[in-house]
Amino acid sequence: MTTAAHRASPLSIAVIGTGPRGISVLERLVHRLHTHGPSNRPVRLYAIDAVEVGAGRVWRTDQPSWFTMNTVVGQVTMYSGAPDAGPARPGAGPSLGQWDAERSPTREEQPLGPDDYASRRRYGQYLRFVFDTIRSHVPPGTDLLPLHARVTALTARPAGGYHLQLDHEPGTLTVDKVVLATGHPTNAPTAAEQELTDFAARHPQLHYVPADSAAEMDLSPAAVPPRTTVGIRGMGLSFYDVMLSLTVGRGGTFVTAADGSLTYRPSGAEPRIVAASRSGLPIPARGRNQKSPQYSHTARFLTRAALNAARHHREQVSGSPRLDFAQDVLPLLLSEVEHVYCTTHVRTRLGEAAAAAFARRHLAVAGDPQAVRALLAETGLPEVEPPDIFRLARPFAHRHFSSPATFRSELLQHIRHDLHQAELGNHDGPLKAALDVLRDIRNIVREAVDHGGLLPHSHRHAFHTHFLPANALLSAGPPRERVQQLLALIETGLVDIAGPDARFTTDEQAGRFHVHSPQVDGSGHHLTALIEARIPTPALARDTSPLIRQLLADGIVSEYVVEDLVHGQRLDSTGMAVTPAPFHVIDRDGKILTDLYAIGIPTEHTRWFTQVGSSRPGVNTLFYRDADALAADLLTHPARPRTAPAPAHAAQR
Ligand SMILES: Cc1cc2nc3c(=O)[nH]c(=O)nc-3n(C[C@H](O)[C@H](O)[C@H](O)COP(=O)(O)OP(=O)(O)OC[C@H]3O[C@@H](n4cnc5c(N)ncnc54)[C@H](O)[C@@H]3O)c2cc1C
Repeated sequence: MTTAAHRASPLSIAVIGTGPRGISVLERLVHRLHTHGPSNRPVRLYAIDAVEVGAGRVWRTDQPSWFTMNTVVGQVTMYSGAPDAGPARPGAGPSLGQWDAERSPTREEQPLGPDDYASRRRYGQYLRFVFDTIRSHVPPGTDLLPLHARVTALTARPAGGYHLQLDHEPGTLTVDKVVLATGHPTNAPTAAEQELTDFAARHPQLHYVPADSAAEMDLSPAAVPPRTTVGIRGMGLSFYDVMLSLTVGRGGTFVTAADGSLTYRPSGAEPRIVAASRSGLPIPARGRNQKSPQYSHTARFLTRAALNAARHHREQVSGSPRLDFAQDVLPLLLSEVEHVYCTTHVRTRLGEAAAAAFARRHLAVAGDPQAVRALLAETGLPEVEPPDIFRLARPFAHRHFSSPATFRSELLQHIRHDLHQAELGNHDGPLKAALDVLRDIRNIVREAVDHGGLLPHSHRHAFHTHFLPANALLSAGPPRERVQQLLALIETGLVDIAGPDARFTTDEQAGRFHVHSPQVDGSGHHLTALIEARIPTPALARDTSPLIRQLLADGIVSEYVVEDLVHGQRLDSTGMAVTPAPFHVIDRDGKILTDLYAIGIPTEHTRWFTQVGSSRPGVNTLFYRDADALAADLLTHPARPRTAPAPAHAAQR
């Protein structure tokens, strides 16, 4: 780089949020600065985070070790390339598993194998390592400055770029371009949540904990005293976090017997837990991992070609290319699940050749229950029943139980059966192999759904209300160990599951919260604490972040709206309006702001399933591609706002 270029004013870029998404953008930026030749302008990068620079809020390194990831360490990397003979640096570095194997663990840490799950704290330490290697490998002419501060406002400069307001030193900042990688929101309460908050405020002995990451909740003995009864609403991944905080976090221990079974040894400081959710089913375990990090599923039904054909057909017939999820996407997706389920049964019982023959014939009959049953019978497996994901997600729907004991006994049976299925593995276990498909085909579902790809009514009902809850329950489970721990706690009597369709209410007379399942007689419990065990759903207008509120109020960001004029349908998505990659923000007037980008969770609902925290070694993941597209654009043109052309099948306001 010439001396003149060094003297030029730097291209300044602020990345707001240094969770995995912000770090992924920095990794690609620095890699590109190295590999795409010297910039003719110095570059100054600001990495800003309100909680912990280089790890972020979800992966903060000061959280207890019982909070774990739900992806095995061999499948997690933040580097966009494999390690080589050189030092770890942007473009070449170890996966989480490799990093962990190479470092010296502290005395209280167990070394991890590639199929183990790391604590979130340990992933945070890995993220910090990655961040440090990015910092120490910036090329000459580039600065990377970490700033531990909250950005509270962002205003556009008439000449281009932005002024940032920070709540700590340096107070203000002026930059050319900004990346919003602000991650998980904290939402304003709904009317129902506010009512529960107010009820708790009127009864000082009660404690109400709104939805958040469990590491951020007040679950201390002062808030949830020993031997009181606490209700937990939601039995997804966050439930297990809260469960461990109130047991292991209170000094209890799990003891493994010689036969591998777990028992719980209480400390006496635990509260009694009553958990409940709509399905009445704790989120099932993930299958034992049998897949290499590079594994990729080959779609047979839900392919890009099939989606393109469906879009083309829709356009011919109706004049709108938007898809109907229930008609155009879901049947193909269910055929993928059915294919893997049945073929795995055949492979594990009759061998590879029989499976290959079955798979070929199944292509012609998939989705036709009678024909599939006939084919299974002909193959010699008449007892195999193709799976129904909606029934699997609601096993207790329309059931009635005459006592908590009868429900409990059936639930325990269900959990034990699921653990057995999980033990068979995600390749050799028909059920877990089939459900893994729901993860493996996320990218193609995104292609169907993102940026207004579905008809608004179909998006809201068939996709959001009907499919997503089942999908989340069946595809995002915790490690088996968590479910074994839950089983031990139920058996000890410290945890009760209220039953399906549970209702949480307030009992003014008793001065207590109350929970009961209308499907289980005698399931009512009074509660002195109520914990919302779920991660807040991103919704721009409910986000309490001063920055997001200001951006929305000033019209710098806007909510993504899908308007299908052909069908007279509209969807107010609640996500932030952005262009397809490189994710320029679209303001209230429909202008594309080429100097402002948003990646990840703020754009959820415009895109689908943005809550991703890593790439996968050796795989060209969307997580990596998102970051790279953004980094490439950041380093090219000077930013000039221009008017948004109306995207092919979407409209914003
Ligand atoms: C409890 C929990 C467990 C999870 N477990 C997994 C898992 O095991 N595997 C997985 O792949 N995903 C998991 N996820 C999903 C998670 O979305 C991703 O892993 C990942 O954290 C998303 O990265 P991000 O950078 O988009 O958001 P975040 O990690 O939320 O990071 C955003 C950062 O922005 C900062 N920020 C926000 N606003 C401002 C501001 N105004 N000024 C300065 N800083 C700001 C925040 O402090 C935060 O650090 C989990 C999520 C949660 C909540």
